[in-house]
Amino acid sequence: MISPFTFIGRPARVIFGRGKRVVLAAEVERLGASRVLVISTPEQRGEAEMAADLLGDHAAGIHDRAVPHTPMETVDVARQVAADLGADCYVTVGGGTAIGLGKGIALESEKPVLALPTTYSGSEMSAVQGFTKDGVKTTRQDDRMLPRTVIYDPELTLGLPASYSGPSGMNAIAHAVEALYAEHANPIVSLIAEEGIRALGKGLPGVCASPDDLEGRSLALYGSWLCGIALGAGGMALHHKLCHVVGGSFHLAHAPTHAIILPHAMAYNAPAAETAMKRVCKALNADNAPGAIYDLIRKIGAPIALKQIGMPEDGLDRAAQLTAQNPYYNPRQITQDGIRQLLDDAFHGRRPAA
Ligand code: NAD
Repeated sequence: MISPFTFIGRPARVIFGRGKRVVLAAEVERLGASRVLVISTPEQRGEAEMAADLLGDHAAGIHDRAVPHTPMETVDVARQVAADLGADCYVTVGGGTAIGLGKGIALESEKPVLALPTTYSGSEMSAVQGFTKDGVKTTRQDDRMLPRTVIYDPELTLGLPASYSGPSGMNAIAHAVEALYAEHANPIVSLIAEEGIRALGKGLPGVCASPDDLEGRSLALYGSWLCGIALGAGGMALHHKLCHVVGGSFHLAHAPTHAIILPHAMAYNAPAAETAMKRVCKALNADNAPGAIYDLIRKIGAPIALKQIGMPEDGLDRAAQLTAQNPYYNPRQITQDGIRQLLDDAFHGRRPAA
């Protein structure tokens, strides 16, 4: 018997395929817009210029000021730049940082946002975003933040180095794994999540061995789209809470933190999430889900231990305490001692037992 569930399908228009960025101007016209502000990080100015070239006469300007943690002041500045240029549409080119700025704009603007993702973060598919104001980060959930159109062109990910592609892909897998046992898990989300994990598990090793492997890039981007949907529709649990606490409090890099924590959060939850673990095993053709994720991280050469990415060992107690306070929904009860042990394993990079 299928347990009762609620499934929310969010209405993004998605265009997927090699070279598909060429439809950008037509997609802007389809939204009834004609003057576009292109948004990127300073590092991706080149990709933003490429998007402006594709937009031709529809390009109003480039704003390359997206920064991590989406400070609200940067959202206000981007809106003002758009107003000064008479822009009626935004295009984000980049990963979660550029998309975060686009989401902030969309929160209080009727003007549509289109996304050209260049990492595997999946952020463009979730209606959740963290914003920083006066040094405090708060998370908002609002469907208005979703980009109206997303163009997934695997060629746009070719510049992402192997050292970030691997962790970024693990960030996507983490979304799907947690969606399998999160509060709003349901059969449709599970189908999407399992396929996302399968695609990334197949694509990532090739991408990390040779970053110009376009077939691997295509599989990984397809997988990250699916994992983003799973995050948006299924929700988060212990793993995401841990990453928010550890990443936020100790300023650790976003995607590597996700990669390192994931097998340990899974091992903690495995006794209470048997069906989810079976799905992960099926997707990766394995018999120990946390172990298979750990092995995949090793295979793609991503960091495996918190001590490798700057986590201070004397911060583990505080991290366990913060995680146990105001925990997210989780299938297994969260205890401070249990989390402390989990963090110790993650700090040293131990392989989870079967
Ligand atoms: P990012 O967007 O911060 O990118 C990392 C760096 O790589 C940046 O300098 C960027 O310009 C560069 N880069 C990105 N794509 C590139 C490419 N193809 N070639 C060369 N350089 C490239 O990384 P991210 O991991 O995608 O995003 C991290 C942020 O997104 C975090 O702040 C995180 O909180 C947020 N996020 C949000 C959600 C959500 O659902 N709200 C989901 C995942 C991540």
